[in-house]
Amino acid sequence: MNNLIRENLDFIRQNLPVNVRLVAVTKKMSIDKIKEAYNAGVRDFGENHLQEALEKIEILKDFPDICWHFIGHLQSNKASKVVKIFQWIHSVDSLKLAQTLERLAQENNLYLNACLQIKLLPDPTKFGWEIAQLKQDLPLLDQCEYLKIKGLMTILPLGLTEAEKFNTFQSLRNLATEINNNSWQNIKIKELSMGMSNDYLLAIEGGSTMIRLGTIIFGERLVN
Ligand SMILES: *Cc1c(COP(=O)(O)O)cnc(C)c1O
Repeated sequence: MNNLIRENLDFIRQNLPVNVRLVAVTKKMSIDKIKEAYNAGVRDFGENHLQEALEKIEILKDFPDICWHFIGHLQSNKASKVVKIFQWIHSVDSLKLAQTLERLAQENNLYLNACLQIKLLPDPTKFGWEIAQLKQDLPLLDQCEYLKIKGLMTILPLGLTEAEKFNTFQSLRNLATEINNNSWQNIKIKELSMGMSNDYLLAIEGGSTMIRLGTIIFGERLVN
């Protein structure tokens, strides 16, 4: 085994402000690669497919200081596992899912940190709140106490120019400011989960606090 993953991480960390958390996205990556990243100091790992994640987390249960982030679309009927096993969910994309997670977290007396996934530009392939719907749902979202709504997350559509990407990242930051200006009881947006392998430097410039990086750390994913 070579040290490529460590080298990639060293390179990324050179440009990483201290307030930006690097989440290593390990979907379709082997357990060996996850361990390599762990040995290079990574403790935040992200998965977007529940079944695959549960299998890996079981294998890696002797690494209890890993913080697992769920970053994919989640059906409400599978939410219970996420509440019990993950510390973060970045992809809360509907009121129904938020309320289900809240109920399950309360029943299990657990907290789950959450980002609301926002669709800033039309994109039929992505889940997430459109802004008008989000504003309508915020009063009910604010009733969540066990689901800790601490952040906003977005995934950019393909094909944007650099300027469009940067503007879109800034729009997410502006939306966070606007939400916080309302002084909600429970909702306090401190995190912006934005930036992937091909746009994370722009995302950091735009105010990201959590970047989700896969291929730039691990290389291309295996297709199945
Ligand atoms: C796969 C994935 C990433 C990582 O993408 P890369 O381009 O490999 O860095 C980040 N966020 C989400 C939600 C993903 O599904």
